[in-house]
Amino acid sequence: MKKAMLCAVVFGLMNTAYADADWDYKHTHQWGSLSDKYAACNSVNQSPINIQGSVKAELEPLKFNYNTMIHAIENKGHTVQVDFAQGGELQLDGDTFVLKQFHLHSPSENLIKGKSYPLEIHFVHANTKGELAVVGMMYAEGLENPQLARLWQSLPKQKGQRNVLATPQPVNHMLPKNLQYYRFSGSLTTPPCSEGVRWLILKDIQQASAQQIAAFSKLMGHPNNRPVQPLNGRVIVEN
Ligand SMILES: [Zn+2]
Repeated sequence: MKKAMLCAVVFGLMNTAYADADWDYKHTHQWGSLSDKYAACNSVNQSPINIQGSVKAELEPLKFNYNTMIHAIENKGHTVQVDFAQGGELQLDGDTFVLKQFHLHSPSENLIKGKSYPLEIHFVHANTKGELAVVGMMYAEGLENPQLARLWQSLPKQKGQRNVLATPQPVNHMLPKNLQYYRFSGSLTTPPCSEGVRWLILKDIQQASAQQIAAFSKLMGHPNNRPVQPLNGRVIVEN
């Protein structure tokens, strides 16, 4: 009886502490237990995944209209997020998904055939119903990336810091010419881990220099990738 009460008290304290401290990358397997609003983190269609055993399909070509400018870059603590003066668009499934922001993970969250990359970018889009489509793009270590070089000049050092770019950068320059992709259904990779996200991972691998990769991971101070989640019967298609 005493023990049960103590457990209840300790559990209550833990819940309060977690609610205040929120989530971190050291305890990714506990996210679903931190709060009722994070319950989806324990669900079965979670992201990221290891992209393996994909099936060739007649996928529609991705139609990006990224004629918008990168306006500001913000250090969110868990990632660095880039905002725009006004949204670009992605046409998908007969619907318009507006580009909301993009952010970075190091190392990559999704794996391609078991391979991890040092950097993955997530372009996050939403339609008018609030449904999400995330386009992922990988960077391997190689040549310096000119688009990232311009962004890195304004990399905010402190959590909460937001730097407005002196010269706004066009977003469409970040996309490769080859827009072949993998597609699957998944979730947000951070709490609340909401499902029903359309995931599109570009096959074309970009390059970034060792210094550029190091600058980002040093800024984060810790890896900001959630480990891969079980596929649980989901099908991955590719074109
Ligand atoms: Zn992400």
